Amino acid sequence: KSSESLAFLKSLNTAQLQAVLHEPTSPLQILAGPGSGKTKALTSRIAHLILHHSLPPSSICAVTFTNKAASEMRQRLGVLIGKQRTAEVRMGTFHASCALFLRKFSKVVGIEPNFTVCDAEESKKIISNLLKPHKNFLASKDITLKDGNVLSQISRAKAKGLDAKDFIAQHKATNEFDPQVDIQRVIGTVYEKYEKALRRSNSLDFDDLLLFGVKLFSEHPSATNWCRHVLVDEFQDTNVTQYELLRAIARPTKGCVTIVGDPDQSIYGWRSAEVGNLAKMRKDFPGTTQIFLEENYRSTGSILKASLAIVSQDKTRIPKTLLTSHPSGTVPVLRSFPSEQAEANFIAVEIKRLVAFMGGMLRWGDFAILLRFSALSRAIESALQKEAIPCAVLGGHKFFERQEIKDILAYLQLVDNPSFVPALTRAINVPSRSIGEKSLEAITERALKTKLSSLEVIERITDAKQPDVKPAVKSKLASFVKTVRALRQLAAKGASPPDLIQRLLELIGYEDHLKKTQPEWETRWENVQELITFASEVEQGVNLANVEPEDSAPSSDTPLRLFLQASMLSSEGDNQSEEDSKEKVTITTCHAAKGLEWPVVLIPAVEQGTFPFYRTEDFQEERRLLYVACTRAQSLLYLSHVTKRKVGGETKTRDLSEFVSAVTKEDSNMFTARVSQFAAIERAVVAQVLGRADAPEAEVARRVAEFRKTTRYLAFDGDETSQLDTLSFPALSNGMAPSFVASSKI
Ligand code: ATP
Ligand code: MG
Repeated sequence: KSSESLAFLKSLNTAQLQAVLHEPTSPLQILAGPGSGKTKALTSRIAHLILHHSLPPSSICAVTFTNKAASEMRQRLGVLIGKQRTAEVRMGTFHASCALFLRKFSKVVGIEPNFTVCDAEESKKIISNLLKPHKNFLASKDITLKDGNVLSQISRAKAKGLDAKDFIAQHKATNEFDPQVDIQRVIGTVYEKYEKALRRSNSLDFDDLLLFGVKLFSEHPSATNWCRHVLVDEFQDTNVTQYELLRAIARPTKGCVTIVGDPDQSIYGWRSAEVGNLAKMRKDFPGTTQIFLEENYRSTGSILKASLAIVSQDKTRIPKTLLTSHPSGTVPVLRSFPSEQAEANFIAVEIKRLVAFMGGMLRWGDFAILLRFSALSRAIESALQKEAIPCAVLGGHKFFERQEIKDILAYLQLVDNPSFVPALTRAINVPSRSIGEKSLEAITERALKTKLSSLEVIERITDAKQPDVKPAVKSKLASFVKTVRALRQLAAKGASPPDLIQRLLELIGYEDHLKKTQPEWETRWENVQELITFASEVEQGVNLANVEPEDSAPSSDTPLRLFLQASMLSSEGDNQSEEDSKEKVTITTCHAAKGLEWPVVLIPAVEQGTFPFYRTEDFQEERRLLYVACTRAQSLLYLSHVTKRKVGGETKTRDLSEFVSAVTKEDSNMFTARVSQFAAIERAVVAQVLGRADAPEAEVARRVAEFRKTTRYLAFDGDETSQLDTLSFPALSNGMAPSFVASSKI
C-alpha cells in the first residue's frame, strides 16, 4: 500500500473523498447532478477497494450503461491501478455481464452454452410469423397490430420481470367488449409462442439475457460467490429486472453496494426504467448512506446556468445545488435558420471556423452533434462531408444490422448453434438457392416432430433417398450442407473467426454473389472486410484480457462463440474505437451521449415536435433529455432550430422548443445569437476548461491565416468581418496564466 499508489485521492474534493473512503461494507448512494464527478468517484472507489482494502479485482462487479461507458471507465481505472488488474474487474453493461455468466452456467438455467443472442430484427421476424394465424381475427375487429409493437410490449413486460403467464394473468379479460382486451389476448398468446420459439432455437433475446441472469444469480449461489462489491453507474435508468439483477449479484456481499445516479438525468422511462429504484434500494439495503456532490467540474458557468434554467422549469423536480468555480465563459449560442440545410451548413462551417480559430486547441474529436433521434443526421452528415470534416456516427451505424454482415453472421451462428432457426432461414438463401418459405416451413415442422435441429433435418434430406424432395432442390440443399459442414469441421479444429470468415467467403463465392446482386457491391464488400478486422480485434482483446479468474465452472467459450457474442452485444450500438473519437466529429443521439462529455456540443432541431418529441408519453422526460444533452458541453454550447422542416416529404412550420423559449422569456441573456469571436479572454476560458493552456502561438497564427483564406463563414454574419484584424491572443503565448485558474483541491 504505497502512498504513491493512493495519490489519486488528492484529485478528489471533500464529498468525493468521503464517498471513496466510505466503509466498503455499508451500502452507498452517490447522488448528484451532471459533471459533478460521480463516475470519477465511482472509479476511484473501485481503485481504493483494490489498493487499500485489498479486494481482488475479480471480486468487484462494476456495471455501466453502455459499452462506451465501460471502455471509458476501464481506461480511467487503468491509469489508477494498471491495465492488468483493470482487465480482471468484472466491468460491463448488465447485458454483457449476464451473457458472460450464462455461458459458464447455462445448464443450470436450462439452456445450452452455445445459445445465440437474438437481435430485434430476428425477433420481429419470429413475431410476424406468429401473428399470421391471428390476422383474420384482428382484421375482423378492425385492429392493426404491428410486429414491432408486439415486440416492444413483450420487451416492456420482460423489463418488469413478467413472463408470458404473468402477462396473460395481468390482462385477464375484464371487459369482453373492449378491443384492448382482444389486443392483449393476442399479444399474450404470441408472447407465449415467441418464448417457445426462442427456446427451440436455443437462443435468448436481449431482455432474456437479463431475466435468465436474475434466475441464475438468485437461484445458484455458486454463480456469484466470487462477488465482494457491486457498483452501478447511472442507476436512475435501471429497470425492475436490472434492479433485481443488482440484488441477486450483490447477495453474497451482504450489502456492499455502491450506486451513483441523478434523478434529473433519468431519460429511459420509455424503456421501463424506474427512478423509484433509488428509494427501493434504501428499503432493501438498510443503512444506505447518501452522499451528495455539489460542484460541477465539466462546464463553464454560463453553460451550467442555462442548463439548470431549462431543467428547473419542471416544477415537480426536487431542486438541488450545483455550482462551478469555472469562469462563466462564452454564453451559449441559440440560432434560428430558415431550413434544415441552412442549419446543417451553419454547424459544419462553425465547426471548421472553431478548429481554425482556436489554434490547435480544438480538434475534430472535440465536437459532438447531439440529436433527438438519429434520422436527423442525414442533412448534417452531408453538410460535414461538403466541408470535408471527418465524422463518426456513434450508435447510428448499425453496422451489425447491414445485410452483408447479417449474411456472414448467420452462417457462423449456424456453425455454433445448429438449432438457431433465424440463422438457418437467412443463410440457406445466401447465395439464393430458391428455397421458398413453404419448404422452410416444412423443414422446421419436421424438425419439431423429430426433435432434430433444422440443420439435421436438411442433412437427412440430402443424405437419404427421399422421394418427396425434388432432385434440383436436393442438390441445392446439398451444397448448403457441405458449406456448413466444412465450416463446422474447421471450427472444431479451433480455426480463428477471421479464418472462418475467409473460408466461408470462398465457399459461397460471396464476392461474386454481391457483384451480381448488389449495385453498391463495393461498399458491401468493404463492410465484410471490416467484419474480418473486427473479428481479429476481438481475438486480440480476448488474448489481452486472458485473465480468466478461477470460477467454479470452466468456461465453454470458443473463439467463435466469443466473436459472435461480441458482435451481438456491440450491436447495442455504442461502440466507437479510441482512434475514431480523437479525429472525428461525433454525431450521436442525446440518449447515447449520457455520461460523456465534449468541449463543444451542438444540438440542432431544438423545436416543438422534436423537443418534446411529438410522440412522447412523458413530457418532463423530454425536458430532462435536453438537460442531459446540454450538460455534455465543457466550453461551448450551441442550440439551433429551423422555422421550416421537411417531415415525411411535407414542409412544416416549426417553433422554438418551449423548453428553451420559457427560459429566454425569463432571462433574455441566457443565450445569444452571436457566435463568439474569441478574444483572448474567451480563448483562455476554453483553454482552462479543457486544460490545454499551452497551444503554440505559431500554430495559432498559421491557422488564422489558413482560416481567412478558406472559410465561407463570413457569409453568415457580415458585421463580424471587421473584428477579424483586431484579434490577438496575447495572454497564453506570453506564458501568462489566466487569472482565474482554478485553485487545486484536495
Ligand atoms: P454525468 O452525470 O454526466 O455522468 P458525472 O457526475 O459522472 O457526470 P464525471 O464524468 O465523473 O461526472 O466528471 C465530469 C468531469 O469533471 C470529468 O472530466 C472529470 O474528470 C472532472 N472531475 C470530476 N471530479 C473532479 C475533481 N474533483 N477535480 C477536477 N475535475 C474533476
Ligand atoms: Mg457519469
